[in-house]
Order: sequence, then structure tokens, then C-alpha cells
Amino acid sequence: MSETTLINPADETVIGAVAHTTLEEVDSAVARAVVAQRAWAALAPVDRARALRRFAATVDVHIEELAQLEVRNSGHPIGAARWEAGNVRDVLDYYSGAPERLIGQQIPVAGGLDITFHEPLGVVGVIVPWNFPMPIAAWGFGPALAAGNAVLLKPADWTPLTAIRLGELALESGLPEGLFQVLPGRGSVVGDRFVTHEHVRKVVFTGSTEVGKHVMAGCAAQVKPVTLELGGKSANIVFADADLEAAASGAPGSVFDNAGQDCCARSRLLVERSVLDRFLELLEPAVRGFRVGDPNDEATEMGPLVSKGHFENVAAFLDDDVAVAFRGSAPEGPGYWMAPTVLLPNRDDRVAREEIFGPVVSVLPFDDEADAIALANDSIFGLSGSIWTRDLGRGIRVARGVESGALSVNSHSSVRYATPFGGFKQSGLGRELGPDAPLAFTETKNVFFSHG
Ligand code: NAD
Repeated sequence: MSETTLINPADETVIGAVAHTTLEEVDSAVARAVVAQRAWAALAPVDRARALRRFAATVDVHIEELAQLEVRNSGHPIGAARWEAGNVRDVLDYYSGAPERLIGQQIPVAGGLDITFHEPLGVVGVIVPWNFPMPIAAWGFGPALAAGNAVLLKPADWTPLTAIRLGELALESGLPEGLFQVLPGRGSVVGDRFVTHEHVRKVVFTGSTEVGKHVMAGCAAQVKPVTLELGGKSANIVFADADLEAAASGAPGSVFDNAGQDCCARSRLLVERSVLDRFLELLEPAVRGFRVGDPNDEATEMGPLVSKGHFENVAAFLDDDVAVAFRGSAPEGPGYWMAPTVLLPNRDDRVAREEIFGPVVSVLPFDDEADAIALANDSIFGLSGSIWTRDLGRGIRVARGVESGALSVNSHSSVRYATPFGGFKQSGLGRELGPDAPLAFTETKNVFFSHG
């Protein structure tokens, strides 16, 4: 039986092993999900709503346990891990309102009555990456269940523990057997089967752009809908008129949070040339003061990278001949530790263009508003971004000009469960979260009733 050995990235100790789901097991999970989905969709909307609220309440009483699991499995700082577990609860709570609000339309037509229904798709396959194992899973399974679907969840190879626990909590909370199943294993086996199985009616994929394209191509063979949340190289744009102190003190968190393993990381820091020196003076103490260390320490802001392999991928970017402006600190000894690093590359350097997915930021000066927008948009990606300015008009113009799905002005927030999230260009396809997310897990059915 094949399995993955799980390693605590903070100290490199083995914390367990998880068996891979086989192809045959995936197929029987799909068969169970098909049966469970029919019964789930037939329930009164209020009963589906109640079941999701109970699931949310069960997650709520296990927040600490889930957070501790994530600390061990992924190396996330405990404060961040608590937020992530709480986000699962909040997403379930938010979408528990959806079953009773999937409201169709009544459309005026001649000769009868025309109405639309939002029918569930059936079984949905959710494939998630290792960087935020809990929230990203919930952004798929919460609205999908609310819209009357069954869900099969495939966690990433290295970080399956919280997903497995969420599957158990779903059953403990009373969700029917087969409705929400967690299938750890290989992407090329479990994930690929979601793509090829005819009874999996939609795939939600979050991960690399490369695998996302492969998943999309596979779904095309069956005209299967797919949501893609992919990579990013987001810009944090600081204008000379901004509150530079606030912009500089917020910048480290916007890119080094989760050790930069964040699709929304503002890994390009665009600074108006006239204030570049002053901004770097303000940024340096903020980066040096960013607390990197023991994930169990409540004060820690950044933990290790998730695995040895990923550490090596990130480190390979720093072999390039790129000027380092300054670095923060990181613990010595076992664990995949890397100090936050600020680079001063040229615009066309690899570090300034490719997603590094580690604690590395490229500072790039720009000349004026038009140059800032052009530079921000000079990327195959378009996921998030921030704009720092005291000029309201400029804030509006630049926010409209930047080709990105989730922007913030004078802050770094990008993901709230109540607002839509997703990318432009090769950062993705479709949107998650927000009030409309359940609709992405339905087909619109139009029915005309003749009145004779
Ligand atoms: P990855 O693409 O290697 O893996 C993602 C998931 O896909 C994993 O569960 C993996 O097992 C599975 N998979 C691998 N091959 C597959 C296949 N052939 N068919 C189906 N599934 C397959 O990505 P990763 O390294 O786990 O995550 C990092 C990437 O995820 C980064 O590029 C990051 O930007 C992106 N990401 C995007 C978002 C977003 O919302 N846009 C959020 C988080 C991460």
C-alpha cells in the first residue's frame, strides 16, 4: 500500500503517515456520493441549512484541535492556524443561509408561466493545495454542499491531516454518510479521477497554473465545468503621496505571511521612484522585526517552509545573480527555515516575474501612475494586489486599471468569505466565496408551464 510520510516542517520529525486512496476506492466513493447526493438534495432546504449549521458548530468546538494539527503538519504559526480553522466554521455558517435562498426567477412570457430553478450539479470534486489546507477546502465544500451537492475532497499529499479530521467532524455533526468524503492521495490518481469520472460533475481546483491547465484540458473532454484558483505574482503599489509608514509596516505581512506560500502574496513591491530610498529605510526595520520562529509561540508571525523539496525550489531562485537589499532572521537547526528576503532586481529578472511561493519580495521602482499600472499588469497572473495612496481619485483609477481579481486600497486584505475571490488571466477561472458562490455549483433550469 502506498502512503505519504508526514514531516513536521518546523523540526523535521516524522508525525505519521497517510495511506493513498486507490483508483478503485475513488470509484466506490463516487458511487456512494451519488446516492448520498440524491437524498441530500431531496431534503427540505431548512433541513440542509440546519445540517450545515451543526457542521459549523462542530468545527467551532474543535478549532484548537484543528489548529494544533495544522501547526504540526504545515508549520503554520498557531495564531494563523486558529484563524484558518475559524474560517472553516465561518464559511459553513455563511453558506448555511444559502439552501433557503437559492431563489430562481419568474420570467414574463406569453401563454403560461416561466420559472428557473438552480439545480445541484451532483457530485463535486474539490482538489486543494498544501498552503492553506483548511480554508481553501471549505471555500469549495461549503457552498457546494449548500447548493445540494455531494463533495469529494482531495487534500494535498503533504498536508492531509486537517482535511481528514474535517471529514470525521462532518459525520460527527450528523451530515449523512457519503455526502462529504475526504480522499487523501496522489494528484495523478485521486485528482485525475475526479477529472475523468463521468459522475463527478464539476472540479474545483486550487494549485499551480501548470496542473490547473492540465485539469482544465481534462475537464474539456467531458465539457465538465471547472473552477481554477491558480498562481499569482501580485503587486503592492506604493505612491509617493501614500502614508509611507503604514505602507512599509504592512508590507512584510502582505508577502511573508505563511512564509510567502500564499497565492495572494504581494511579491512585487512597486514603489514610486521619488520615495524609493525613504521607503526602503522604513521597510528595513519592519522586515528585520518580522518574527520568524517556533510555530507554537503565540507571537510568531512566520513559520518554516512546508517541505524540504519546496525549500529547495525557493532557494534555487536566490542562486540567481540578484541584488539582495536586506534580510530578516530565521532560526538555525532542523526545519525548513528561510529568512524573509528583500531583493532589488531588474524588471525582467526571473525573481521579478515568476511565482516563488516563498518569503521573497522584489522591490521595483516606477515613474508615474501609468507606469505603475503597466508594470503591475505586465504579468501572466492577476490575482490580488494593494494600492497605497492618499489621493482618492488615483485609488479609484488604479484599482480599475489593475487586471486583478482581489484588490485592496490602503490595506492588504484580499480574502473575506462574504466577498468574491479569484483571479484574472492565468491566475484562474471563476470565483469562489461571496454571495454568489453557491450558484457556481448549480445548473440553471428553465421550465415553462403552459396554461393552455
Ligand atoms: P499543485 O498544482 O502541485 O497541487 C495542487 C493539488 O493538485 C494537489 O492536491 C495535488 O495533489 C493535485 N494534483 C497534482 N497533479 C494533479 C493531476 N494531474 N490531476 C489532478 N490533481 C492533481 O500545487 P501546490 O504546489 O500544492 O500549491 C501551490 C500552488 O497553488 C501555487 O502556484 C499557488 O499560487 C497556488 N494556489 C493558488 C490559490 C488561489 O486561490 N489562486 C490558493 C492557494 C494556492
